[in-house]
Amino acid sequence: MNYQSTRSPAIQTDSAHAILQGLAPDGGLYVLPDLSALHFDWQGALQQDYTGMAANIVSALLPDFSQEEALALVKAAYTGKFSTPALTPLTPVGEDAVLELFHGPTSAFKDMALCLLPHLMKAAAVKCGDQKDVLILTATSGDTGKAAMEGFRDVPGVRIIVFYPKSGVSPVQEAQMLSQQGDNVKVCAVEGNFDDAQTGVKRIFSHLSDQLHLSSANSINIGRLVPQVVYYFSAYADMLRLGRIVLGDKLDYVVPTGNFGDILAGYIAGELGLPVGKLVCASNVNNVLTDFFHTGCYDRRRPFHKSLSPSMDILVSSNLERLLYFLSGDSALVSSLMANLDRQSYYQLPPALLEKAQAKFFAGYCDDAATVETIAQVWQQHHYLMDTHTAVAWNVAQQYKAQNPGHAPVVVLSTASPYKFPAAVMEALGLPSTGDQFQTMEDIQRSTGVPMPANLQGLRQRPRRHFDYVTPEGMENYVIEKAAETTWKK
Ligand SMILES: *Cc1c(COP(=O)(O)O)cnc(C)c1O
Repeated sequence: MNYQSTRSPAIQTDSAHAILQGLAPDGGLYVLPDLSALHFDWQGALQQDYTGMAANIVSALLPDFSQEEALALVKAAYTGKFSTPALTPLTPVGEDAVLELFHGPTSAFKDMALCLLPHLMKAAAVKCGDQKDVLILTATSGDTGKAAMEGFRDVPGVRIIVFYPKSGVSPVQEAQMLSQQGDNVKVCAVEGNFDDAQTGVKRIFSHLSDQLHLSSANSINIGRLVPQVVYYFSAYADMLRLGRIVLGDKLDYVVPTGNFGDILAGYIAGELGLPVGKLVCASNVNNVLTDFFHTGCYDRRRPFHKSLSPSMDILVSSNLERLLYFLSGDSALVSSLMANLDRQSYYQLPPALLEKAQAKFFAGYCDDAATVETIAQVWQQHHYLMDTHTAVAWNVAQQYKAQNPGHAPVVVLSTASPYKFPAAVMEALGLPSTGDQFQTMEDIQRSTGVPMPANLQGLRQRPRRHFDYVTPEGMENYVIEKAAETTWKK
């Protein structure tokens, strides 16, 4: 089966080319049009360990990769990089369970995909007989950039430029990025918010794709999404082992959502046969998705709020386009909705489609005060420490359960270590402020006894290696300039 653009069935390509291109040439996103036709052996996958599951899922969704090849890539991607024996441990917390996705090299769930993506890209380039060097462009709301640079650093034949909103990321995230090592990485701050950076990157793709060999590490790339399908399966297998469900029972998954990639991977897991019940879309005060699932109107004409969960401060959730395609199977409709979003900044779903979306998704949000309150409550009641993004999901999970008494067992996806967002955690714990964020991290560790991830220790002392800064309008020239340099070695 071929991949095709969400906007046109005429634009088709194989999985290897889809990974290399990132975005389809008409601006659409690549999808496999009929996932159920894959007849995926989901019960067989559940009996494997994480790497075995991943190999099954990768080779099913990316048919250019054999099972053996996928297994080798998965092992190369994950072995020795995680701080826990299980890559994505599931921890029961009260009557719910938390799926911890933050034990990778940068302590954010983006590692799950970005450890594997470079390996997929390199292998895809070989399959396509593509010898040209690739330039990866990525806009980040904080976590993608660091995880992508860590994944791609010093990978031969690849260079990566990361753009981040100057005042839209936490000091910890910024320190992580600006200290990034590697002779093939550039980090550049953008004056503006995440949407400015993301729109800028999309514009560069449409202007420069002919002259530069560009690809993307954002979750518009299908190679980013596929690795995320795996942990929905691993959580299900863990719930079976814990005796909280029996095979065939549904699980409800609650996902702290920004660009809609993580939760869409859950939808794909369900299409592969996994008994996925409701997918609960949790947002912060940038609740454009909550409104969308309630009314069918996606409307970005609203103020952009900076919240305590910055990786979810997003008004245009790119991967929603893939869901619209999966639910409707109608690329003409998807095209016209996306054109409306582009021209008028909103679109309205037809009622039948809204009904379909509501059958699968529940949506809710919580503000910063409730986020901090949730961290405090869960710590007091369960002695479990969570970050702000996870707390948004936990809060919305409780709203969901209260409104749906017949709910299935609930798994809350935890997307970052609490040490990545220390100021809010400190406030929740009622600790006095004794210094900057790096000091706060030490204080949290001392007070809670929850160990700080090794990759975040000593961040303050790490030398800064990147100093570039542009306006959104300057991004394109920046890329042209940097692409022309023969080496970025410092
Ligand atoms: C990126 C991110 C999210 C949002 O995930 P999407 O796939 O963009 O919906 C949530 N939490 C954290 C910590 C993230 O880094």
